[in-house]
Formats: sequence, C-alpha cells, structure tokens
Amino acid sequence: MTTPAQRAVEPWMERALELASRAPADGDVPVGALVVDPDGRVLGEGWNARERDGDPTAHAEVVALRAAARERGEWRLDGCTLVVTLEPCTMCAGALVLARVDRLVFGAFDDKAGAVGSLWDVVRDRRLNHRPEVVSGVLADRVAEQLRGFFADHR
Ligand SMILES: [Zn+2]
Repeated sequence: MTTPAQRAVEPWMERALELASRAPADGDVPVGALVVDPDGRVLGEGWNARERDGDPTAHAEVVALRAAARERGEWRLDGCTLVVTLEPCTMCAGALVLARVDRLVFGAFDDKAGAVGSLWDVVRDRRLNHRPEVVSGVLADRVAEQLRGFFADHR
C-alpha cells in the first residue's frame, strides 16, 4: 500500500530513476540520487559512477550531496531532502547525517548492504543528535526492476 508520504515524493523518485538509468552506460550499477531544498528546488543530482570515475566513494548519494553543497555554497544541507533509488550503504548514510539533511527518501531496501534499516540503522541511531526523517519504499518495485534488469544483462 502506498502512503500519502510516499505518494507525495514519487515525482522526485521518478527523477532519481531517470538519473540511475545513466549509470549502466559506464558499467555502473543503476542508482540515482538528488537533493531537493525546502522550496522544492533541485540543488544537486548524481548517479553511481564508481566504474566511470574509478572512485570507490562515487556513490549516487555522495555525488548528489557534493553537487548540492557546491550549489548552496556550504556543506550544511539542513532543510533538504536526499532522494535515492536504493537504501543507502554505511558510507552514504553517514554522509547524509554529516550533511545534516532533514529527510531521506529511498526506494528499495538493500538486504546486502543497506544501512537504513536492513543491516544497520545509521541514520536513526539514538546516540546521534541529528536524525533525519525517513520515507522508504517509494516506487520500490520500479527500482527493483531496474536493478534486476541491470544484473540480468551483466551476468
Ligand atoms: Zn553508498
């Protein structure tokens, strides 16, 4: 069932899916992300570019957070929402807490590496004083389908 909170952010997830679809051209797993400011303006976008850039930290979320911080002119992204197709890993969950984003929206859960509920819950650890709100499961079927398609082609 789709909740009103999930439905409200579906257009952003549509955009994240579109960004994710650019990754496979370079052999990268399709994951896309964007950062939206409190007025709904997109501050930064990115997709997984580990293979393209030969950079282990070039996950979609980190690419989008860096672009957003450049656009805003500072590292603090308070008031912003990070939207990403797949549940963030430990690095990205840590990065979004450090960037002080207010909200995280993601699509599918990642049973193998997820750090927002699957294997760990980095963003809602009570020992942290900054804990973003989380909306998960947004267009999760579409995200899962996109990933399945990639892995079916790269086997
Ligand atoms: Zn990551």
